Amino acid sequence: MIYHAHTTNVIALTFVLPLKDEIFTRELWEMATECPVVFPDGVGVVGWMVPGGREIAVATSELMKQYDVAIWAHHGMFASGEDFDLTFGLMHTVEKAAEILVKQLSMCPRKLQTITAQNFRDLAVDFKVTLPEKFLYEKE
Ligand SMILES: [Zn+2]
Repeated sequence: MIYHAHTTNVIALTFVLPLKDEIFTRELWEMATECPVVFPDGVGVVGWMVPGGREIAVATSELMKQYDVAIWAHHGMFASGEDFDLTFGLMHTVEKAAEILVKQLSMCPRKLQTITAQNFRDLAVDFKVTLPEKFLYEKE
């Protein structure tokens, strides 16, 4: 199942976050503890391209070899899963995390506290998920 939607909050974030897989994944994961459990492989991001053509299809399919979620900058999101319920749930979880991030950035761009890289490693053990270290970089 491949599901495409014009997810408002994810689109908004593509104007203010660097269009990098590592940054989108980490920022979205931090917004809700369930996120790294629901999308442990992270999300991929494609910069703006003309939709409907071959170039964006190739770029998206490359990302979806690694990720179940691909974000199209200033356009929306693709999610893949085994059936519609799982795929809709996945996209809803990512979009909800994006909504929380939009609210957090609107209130105060600097977080006073968050889920840390080590917190994610501890969560991965208890929830038996593998979280790639490329998303667990240290922040200053
Ligand atoms: Zn579209």
